[in-house]
Amino acid sequence: MDMIIPRMQATFELQRAAFAAKPFPCLAERKDKLKTLKSLLQRYQDQIVAAVSADFGGRAPAETKLAEVLGPVFEINHALHSLRGWMKPRKRSTELLFLGNSVRVNYQPKGVVGVIGAWNFPLYLSVGPLVAALAAGNRVMIKMSELSPRSTELLAKMLAEGFAEDEVAVFGGEVAQAQAFSQLPFNHLVFTGSPAVGHHIMRAASQNLTPVTLELGGKSPALVSGAGPIADAAERIAHGKAFNSGQICVSPDYALVPRNRVDEFATEVQASFRKLYPTVQGNHEYTSMTCEPHAQRIHDLLAEAKSKGAQVTACGDSGPGRRIPLHVVTGVTDDMRIAKEELFGPILPVIPYDTVDQAIDYIAARPRPLAMYPFGFSGAELDKLMTHTHSGGVSVDDWGWHVFNHDLPFGGVGNSGMGTYHGEEGFRELSHAKGTFKRFRWFPMGLFYPPYGNLVQRLVFKFYLGPSDPALGAAADSASSAKATSH
Ligand code: NAD
Repeated sequence: MDMIIPRMQATFELQRAAFAAKPFPCLAERKDKLKTLKSLLQRYQDQIVAAVSADFGGRAPAETKLAEVLGPVFEINHALHSLRGWMKPRKRSTELLFLGNSVRVNYQPKGVVGVIGAWNFPLYLSVGPLVAALAAGNRVMIKMSELSPRSTELLAKMLAEGFAEDEVAVFGGEVAQAQAFSQLPFNHLVFTGSPAVGHHIMRAASQNLTPVTLELGGKSPALVSGAGPIADAAERIAHGKAFNSGQICVSPDYALVPRNRVDEFATEVQASFRKLYPTVQGNHEYTSMTCEPHAQRIHDLLAEAKSKGAQVTACGDSGPGRRIPLHVVTGVTDDMRIAKEELFGPILPVIPYDTVDQAIDYIAARPRPLAMYPFGFSGAELDKLMTHTHSGGVSVDDWGWHVFNHDLPFGGVGNSGMGTYHGEEGFRELSHAKGTFKRFRWFPMGLFYPPYGNLVQRLVFKFYLGPSDPALGAAADSASSAKATSH
């Protein structure tokens, strides 16, 4: 019998009761929790490297340390430094009419926050939302992906050392358990995963009117200028495609390149990849596809593109295992799967363009991506790219680094998601911004009570609204004045 779903339900009730008993942890308490989390990450860093690598069947240790440990530690450092300011109520302005009263926003913890993570960065994508949720004073339940069982086991053990079950709890399980998790009446749900599953999450959350943050994916374009240094762009894009073998939501999915530079660009990408990874097979610095179905998906995508006439070039040595070298693909047509699906692996389609406007149109005609990477653009041309395309975030002249700057909001737009976290935006996303009006004791609010139509009310309407339009006729006139008076 499935024990996970009943445990989820019981833990939810436990956390809800614990939150009700202590609904507003103070600054010192929140900081303590963040420091506990940081010290767990530091202490367990080598175990994290081993667990994630076991899940992948070979994940580059440096990539794990950078993304799964250093990333959350940066995030925690930033929160520790900034939390006092984030928590402060914010004074807001009021109408001249209400002068003397106090108007401000109080940031209140929402309650129990659910987090559903993806397998590609099992810790970063669960601990990142956890940092924001703890900073905002919430209790947290995390559902890990079914594709990262060792990471799940380790994270559960680690967090149980520092947190009680009614503060932070971790769950494994399969998709059925993830579905049950998404149906719990959380006060907020942060989901990281595919746009396809994002639909299910939003549907499940809507049953409880649970607000959602959806961190989804998509095809993030790299747009290469003919004016900039092509070799630099090629090297950085090759790195973006090879890091975690391209299994990253913000990996450059495809490259738009001036038509007359396509061959040069493709050659430079190959050379850069070979320089970064002289060998692929047996190279522990190069990450495997996480499981056989994902490896097969990459082979299928390449085979289909080839069968439809694309030129496919492997940039490194291939083998029977799940370490697949980067493949550059030219001669791409719109009917190929690689032109339509998020690749999430070591394939780089190169799409030629003739004018920058054409490249902008290509991006704008497709679902809004999670990131966009302009290379070699500046001044008015860069401004145009920024204002005529929509993407969750942007790194200019490189890929992905905006995600690692934790004072920037991170999130998608349209098909790539909604809501943001990281830094202050994460704190605000997982807090309730409670607009609060406090009446000044002597404020003459009674002047706005009935019977309506007194001199002050008439003067206020006259001052703010002026006369109504006589051309609209007497009936409309009297209707609107009756309405105005009743307000
Ligand atoms: P996925 O959507 O298949 O799964 C994500 C999570 O959802 C998993 O934990 C899974 O168990 C759960 N899930 C699956 N079906 C569910 C359902 N019906 N109801 C509730 N939960 C369900 O995605 P994935 O394969 O784990 O990750 C790859 C995708 O995630 C890519 O599209 C990638 O771009 C995206 N991604 C986005 C970000 C980001 O921060 N925006 C980060 C990493 C990955």
